[in-house]
Amino acid sequence: MKVIDTLERHFGRFAIPNLIRVIAAFNALVFVLGHLNPALIGFLDLTRDGLARHEYWRLITYIFIPKTTNPIFFVLALMWMWSIGNALEAIWGAFKVNLFYLVGMIGTTLAAVFFGAEFSNTMLNLSLLFAFARYYPDQMLLFPPIPIRWLAWILLALMLVNFATASTAYQMALLAAMANYALFLGPEIIAQARQGREVTTRRRRFAEASLPSDEALHRCSVCSRSEQGNPDLEFRVGRDGNEYCMEHLPRRAPQV
Ligand SMILES: [Zn+2]
Repeated sequence: MKVIDTLERHFGRFAIPNLIRVIAAFNALVFVLGHLNPALIGFLDLTRDGLARHEYWRLITYIFIPKTTNPIFFVLALMWMWSIGNALEAIWGAFKVNLFYLVGMIGTTLAAVFFGAEFSNTMLNLSLLFAFARYYPDQMLLFPPIPIRWLAWILLALMLVNFATASTAYQMALLAAMANYALFLGPEIIAQARQGREVTTRRRRFAEASLPSDEALHRCSVCSRSEQGNPDLEFRVGRDGNEYCMEHLPRRAPQV
């Protein structure tokens, strides 16, 4: 997206590398310290009262508060964050991950201030998981041992059910988180849908005119396969701007 590229040129050097891992590490710290001294959470949490008292650190520190007290769920969430953050960073670069998280934080804060939604990093982490699932749909999770896209579909279904019955506050928090996803991945998804339609049109014209056409819309920079002859292949644009099949999309192997 052009706006994001322009922003990256100007502010890219301020990006925090491994941001999601940093956040995960702070979550772990707060989880341990919060068990030792529960008062800590009240000091970090983002509340309207806190903001009224000018305690502006809360605008950031709330993302370090784990949303579960169950150690097993917490370790799972931590493992997902740990691997998802850096796998996304391998494709997007640090700046885009930073921006994605920041825009999500702003949305979360607005939803909370105006609609009384809960301030929490839950939706933010969910939107990260959905972004990850788009790039690595077949990545197996260590636990539960299923491909990540299954988890994404399950979570999406749960979210939609919740959405139908939830308060306006929850609905707004959810919309804010998903708006983030739409903002970053929407243009790409729409472009691909449009190209897909072009391929169909071209194939039909080709069939009608019986003219040879070796012009591929997508071609993997590594294996040179295109959608012609491989209709099942999916293609993604890597952070270097080249196109890759899912198999050769540059990645750092996620550890989960
Ligand atoms: Zn390839």
